[in-house]
Amino acid sequence: MPAVHGGKEFYNRLLLKILRRKVIMKEKIAKIHELLNEIEKEEPLEDIQFVKNFDALEIPSIICSVVDYLFPILSPIETTIYIYLFRHSILANGQQHLRVSVTTLINAASSHHKEKSNISSKSVQKALKGLEEIGALTIDGEVTHDGTLYKVKLPDEIPTCQERIKAINIKITGPIQEKRELDFYNVTENRLKVFERDAYKCHYCKKQLTRFSATLDHIQPVSKGGLNSFDNLTTSCLHCNSERGNRPLMDFIIDKSTKS
Ligand SMILES: [Zn+2]
Repeated sequence: MPAVHGGKEFYNRLLLKILRRKVIMKEKIAKIHELLNEIEKEEPLEDIQFVKNFDALEIPSIICSVVDYLFPILSPIETTIYIYLFRHSILANGQQHLRVSVTTLINAASSHHKEKSNISSKSVQKALKGLEEIGALTIDGEVTHDGTLYKVKLPDEIPTCQERIKAINIKITGPIQEKRELDFYNVTENRLKVFERDAYKCHYCKKQLTRFSATLDHIQPVSKGGLNSFDNLTTSCLHCNSERGNRPLMDFIIDKSTKS
């Protein structure tokens, strides 16, 4: 009771103490938020080499094609789930496979939506089914207690998107279309043809690559009049590609073989 602790004065002091504490707490909370934001920014993606290669590779154009061709045919929750899966597979480490549980997806989807109560296990499962039906996801292994193993498909592997991409390409006619057909460097589907021809192996160090870690190297450099043609391009890892630079091919190969 007040009298026991010295009456009004005691309460004033106590109140002041509480207020001060509140201010300190607020500052602390703000600090924690700041730190969390920093950590989030710094959060290392799983494969450093892959991240280093990020801009040099196909990723920016893949993201464009996802936004242009896939998102328009998805519902909002399908979009949310696809973004989550894409972020934690292809964007994280260049792999198309990801094992994930429905619970993880509910939490992920909930954190993306303001009205959290709307996200139920049922709606997540429905969205997964929808993505499977479109061909944006395939189940690629046994279900374990860690969830289901999915393969996250890209627009050029999804039938409806393929049709949309084709329809847009048909609109490009005449000289531009001819140019596209001859350009094996800038046109994604042509690039893939070179990678496939070379079995996704680096021409120089023989490293096995994926479509996310493979780059194209001009045999005759562009600066020396080399074309973006099928025969003038070869599959290379980013390391060998940047190591070679503009050096003549034979010089580079001899140099590389004497080093190793
Ligand atoms: Zn290499």
